[in-house]
Amino acid sequence: MLHQISQTQADREGIVPNQIQNISPYHNPGHVLAPPRHWLESLLRGEFPWNFFRLRYKNLLRRRFRETPSRFFSLLEASENDKPLFLSCHCLAGNCHREIAAEFLETLRRQAPYQRHRAALAAQRLPDVVPMRPVQMVSNG
Ligand SMILES: [Zn+2]
Repeated sequence: MLHQISQTQADREGIVPNQIQNISPYHNPGHVLAPPRHWLESLLRGEFPWNFFRLRYKNLLRRRFRETPSRFFSLLEASENDKPLFLSCHCLAGNCHREIAAEFLETLRRQAPYQRHRAALAAQRLPDVVPMRPVQMVSNG
């Protein structure tokens, strides 16, 4: 399950580091979910509205997903079912790209590419319990 938290709160609550994905472009610019800093700055300056940012950021995420689906799949695997994964950010208040990222990931989780990926993983993990077929005796007579 994906959660959203500020990095300050995550530090205060002592959340296990491997359960946190800091997606702030200030803290972690290389993260697959981090938007360019100047987009957030333009947003803060009111140069474009939230809905414009939202569309632009989702397009960016779609493009990154096409380029490296595995980076998205690993985030989905890390937040399957009850497994908690916290998306954190530098910001404390107001709209945050975290909510768009979480929405994008949850949509992706239900779609075919990830479902196929999961099915392939599950198939790899299955123990080999297929019973051996009895060997057919071939008669040469
Ligand atoms: Zn933020």
